[in-house]
Amino acid sequence: MPSFPSSRIRNVAVVGHAGAGKTTLVEALALCAGAVTRLGRVEDGTTISDTEPEEHKRGISIATSVVPIEWTPTTFAGAEPHKINLLDCPGEADFFPAVEAALRVVDLAVFVVSAVDGVQVGTEQAWRLAARLGLPRMVFVNKLDRERADFERTLGQLQEVLGEGVAPLELPIGAEAEFTGVVDLLLETAITYADGQATTGPIPGDLEIGEHDVHDALVEGIVVADDDLTERYLDGETLAVEELEKALALGVDAGQVFPVVLGSATRCIGIDRLATLLCEIGPSPLDRPPVVVEAGNTTVEIPCDSSAQPLAVVWRTIDDRFVGKTNVARCLSGTITPDTVLVNGRTHSDEKLHQLLQLRGAGHEPMGEVTAGDLFAVPKLSGTGTGDTLAPKGQPVRFRWPKPAPPAFRIAIAPKSKGDDDKLMTALHRLQDEDPGLEVRRDDATHQTLLGGTGETHLGVTLDRLRRKFSVDVDVADIKVPYLETIAGTATAEGRYKKQTGGHGQFGVCTVTIEPMDRGAGYEFVDKVVGGAIPRSLIPAVSRGVEEAMGHGGEHGFAVVDVRVTLTDGKYHPVDSSEMSFRMAGSLAFREAMAKASPVVLEPVSVLTVTVPLAFQGDVMGDLNARRGRVQGTEVDEEGNSVVIAQVPEAELLRYAIDLRSMTGGRGKFSTEHDHHDVLPVHLVAKLTPSD
Ligand code: GDP
Repeated sequence: MPSFPSSRIRNVAVVGHAGAGKTTLVEALALCAGAVTRLGRVEDGTTISDTEPEEHKRGISIATSVVPIEWTPTTFAGAEPHKINLLDCPGEADFFPAVEAALRVVDLAVFVVSAVDGVQVGTEQAWRLAARLGLPRMVFVNKLDRERADFERTLGQLQEVLGEGVAPLELPIGAEAEFTGVVDLLLETAITYADGQATTGPIPGDLEIGEHDVHDALVEGIVVADDDLTERYLDGETLAVEELEKALALGVDAGQVFPVVLGSATRCIGIDRLATLLCEIGPSPLDRPPVVVEAGNTTVEIPCDSSAQPLAVVWRTIDDRFVGKTNVARCLSGTITPDTVLVNGRTHSDEKLHQLLQLRGAGHEPMGEVTAGDLFAVPKLSGTGTGDTLAPKGQPVRFRWPKPAPPAFRIAIAPKSKGDDDKLMTALHRLQDEDPGLEVRRDDATHQTLLGGTGETHLGVTLDRLRRKFSVDVDVADIKVPYLETIAGTATAEGRYKKQTGGHGQFGVCTVTIEPMDRGAGYEFVDKVVGGAIPRSLIPAVSRGVEEAMGHGGEHGFAVVDVRVTLTDGKYHPVDSSEMSFRMAGSLAFREAMAKASPVVLEPVSVLTVTVPLAFQGDVMGDLNARRGRVQGTEVDEEGNSVVIAQVPEAELLRYAIDLRSMTGGRGKFSTEHDHHDVLPVHLVAKLTPSD
């Protein structure tokens, strides 16, 4: 594919709920543009954009694929070819971070909505994020050929859920199996499709009456972006289609008007029209506001300009089997050629961009140059990954890239083969390069390796990849809660260690009193021995023995904390006493005293912040009650959601990501932070199993 000027590049994220038809739509656009010769099927794993076996197995997209197509819009004579970079985004909630990354590097988002299922939660979520980013948006209502497809109902939902500015540019001709084409509301013509061929003709009689009203409503919706046009329209003037299209493009670019078009991806109806609309109405990189980068303590605005200094941001990292680690980036400004040396704004290290690649699903081809606004891939950079900025040498500026959200769900894993520990860790770190939202953590208290991510599907895919790419099989175990033990009362005990074996014996006796301390105080040792009952040099050995016993754990095997130990008396033998004998005596004394001092188990408690639509607040609070949570307050955020803050035992939150999702239909989010330890109620202590 040749290089295109910035004005003829379109970067388009295709987003929406899982199953709405995003991958099929991208495939249909590629077919229309001649980039493929037949329509691949998601079911057969033959589409360009679903490239990984984990995607084929589940029939879902896991990562965002880039599919560039070349398209010459056909409406006006003399139109020139455009390059449309289509970003096929995942729809499953677990892979939303990939959508977030894509929305930061495109100039337009096309929301695919199924005319059968209507607006679903995945659509709403992505819409809200795009709105927050001020991103221009359009809607493609898909699957109009399917049984129970209903355009009017879907449009009503779009207007209700997504708000003002939703403007239908088309109406469907026929329904379900009889769906054959669209009415163009601006041109007031009908376009019907047969065997992949589009034919333009007059609007069918049954649609004509209603069409005029919808046309007028559309024109009113469009002219608001332009005062002069509004005035002329109100004066009764008939406006030229070109003028209306220009005003529409302005409204789209400003994030005020959201055109709605329709069709069927599997039957290739309306697809050519969508491609033309992307070129004619969709903003080019030049139409978008300048990007803001951090330069030391100040910020600088960088407009998209192919003759300026080169600047790029990495939005995805792929560990390619053949090419190795490859970064996928957007050229924000300047023109990049092979062998350009840029500086990583985070590490301040130089990176030479030996090779520039054009991605196309799993494949790629070399690029001679990358113009401002275009997307490209670059293999083999030494220390660059997702979120990094590649800036002009000597000017290590940084594009603001958000940190990955902390994991919502964790599992404990261990390699099936004992000797595979190192192999597992190396593999996980490789996977983290591609997937910044994946957390790998060793819990020293429970000796478990924890894998954290967005949900069950995310971690399931990660385990599949471990097996396929790195041949590491793991066992998944329940997460152990890092309980602790302490005492509620005071007790005194004597520890006596005496052994007579052959020559040298072992002899040490000590008396300790133990008492509880404040939560979080840890351990304190007080020496109150008088009169040399134990020689000074051996007293630290008693403390060491106590610490060993505390670390070893109390009755249930959990580490003991928050105890003051006072050494009051002891006995020694001039020949047989040693460091070792007093360590043993200290341990024995502590263990006996602990058993008499009303031992209790402590459980970790987190502060949980849950954000849900107001309608779910009651359910969430009731559920937190059942989880032994203590609600500390509720607020309403700027989007009108309820924010509930509560203290909840960590043991009750292990599957909260899954439970909250099913409780709210995926409309809730939460974060947790460890806060303190609290006494575990006695009836639950009885339920602790040795594996806890
Ligand atoms: P995605 O999850 O949004 O990428 O959706 P897919 O492209 O994977 O499509 C989900 C299912 O819907 C697949 O079985 C497609 O064949 C089917 N599908 C997609 N678009 C259409 C359409 O326009 N009409 C019909 N009948 N089926 C469609």
